[in-house]
Amino acid sequence: MLRAIKTTSLLRFSSLTFISRSISTLILAEHDGGTIKSQSISAVEAAKYLDDQTSISLLLAGSGPPLQQAAAHAASCHPSISQVLVADSDKFTYPLAEPWAKLVQLVQQKGQYSHIITASNSFGKNLLPRAAALLDVSPITDVINISGSSQFVRPIYAGNALCTVRYIGSNPCMLSVRSTSFPVSADSKSNEAPISQVDLSTFDEDSVGKSRYVSHTAQDTERPDLGNARVVVTGGRALKSAENFKMIEKLAEKLGAAVGATRAAVDAGFVSNDLQVGQTGKIVAPELYMAFGVSGAIQHLAGMRDSKVIVAVNKDSDAPIFQVADYGLVGDLFEVIPELSEKLPEK
Ligand code: FAD
Repeated sequence: MLRAIKTTSLLRFSSLTFISRSISTLILAEHDGGTIKSQSISAVEAAKYLDDQTSISLLLAGSGPPLQQAAAHAASCHPSISQVLVADSDKFTYPLAEPWAKLVQLVQQKGQYSHIITASNSFGKNLLPRAAALLDVSPITDVINISGSSQFVRPIYAGNALCTVRYIGSNPCMLSVRSTSFPVSADSKSNEAPISQVDLSTFDEDSVGKSRYVSHTAQDTERPDLGNARVVVTGGRALKSAENFKMIEKLAEKLGAAVGATRAAVDAGFVSNDLQVGQTGKIVAPELYMAFGVSGAIQHLAGMRDSKVIVAVNKDSDAPIFQVADYGLVGDLFEVIPELSEKLPEK
């Protein structure tokens, strides 16, 4: 079984300045339709693991009433958040990394946070290195475990080894965290955290940089979000066409599951790339992961090996996916999926 992962060496970032003992954390959060994205809430959960925590502030940026009212209010009701900072400007209508990075620099200058945390998703991956470069620190990405205030565990070699990193650089210590490792808890609180507007009077007008928002395409589906789904049904190259891939979608519908795909299936145009699971796709850890016609390449395993139960169907008994599968069936998916769909009760 590939599941046994070894913890390896201790990496050290060299610097003369040690981070202070008093921990104040800034969460860089995303919102959508007036709610805070669950991956940003996972970043708050991660912050709770830092020792000697004094406060957790959450930074939101956007423009217009939905942000002001709904998202900021939702954040202020979170039991672990002590302050909500809102940057309201048409520069933040779309979450472009360049103005956001400048905003982080501005907020950090004022707040002097010891830690800045964001989710390890496309928003965080885009933003964190830029903001870290402006603040002249080395970010630590893909954190899956936090001990104290300066020791972090992150996967390396596509998840085949875990690396323990001790941060001894200057403030702020900047992290991106995997939401699958910091599940959202259902705490409640009675009072609301204060909501403050970020003073943007010194915000650099030229900071929008070279990228510009073009468009956003999202599939209108009732299926659960791939990143948070309890069940994921994934199809690989073996599906052969977009038309055949609908078998996977139908099965997922019956199971109330999210649909995933390998990079080979995405590259072949069967589905859009937001469904890709793996090293360069989404990281998932559902209760049940079902893989049909997926070979189990190391880059795919990197995105799903933490799933609780893995079921694999492949016609090649030597396919590497069987090394991580809890249940494996050697068979032809074009026979197995219809049979399975038929036997499952209608929703
Ligand atoms: P294949 O490897 O072609 O496997 C198809 C499988 O289907 C085979 O095992 C075959 O036995 C089986 N099969 C064929 N016909 C049937 C049938 N009728 N019934 C049942 N089984 C059948 N890949 C990802 O998935 N996610 C990533 O994020 C990712 N990132 C990458 C990053 C880099 C830098 C690189 C180099 C590669 C990355 N890849 C990623 C690609 C990865 O290496 C594999 O090429 C890819 O995962 C293979 O996809 P697959 O399993 O669908 O296809």
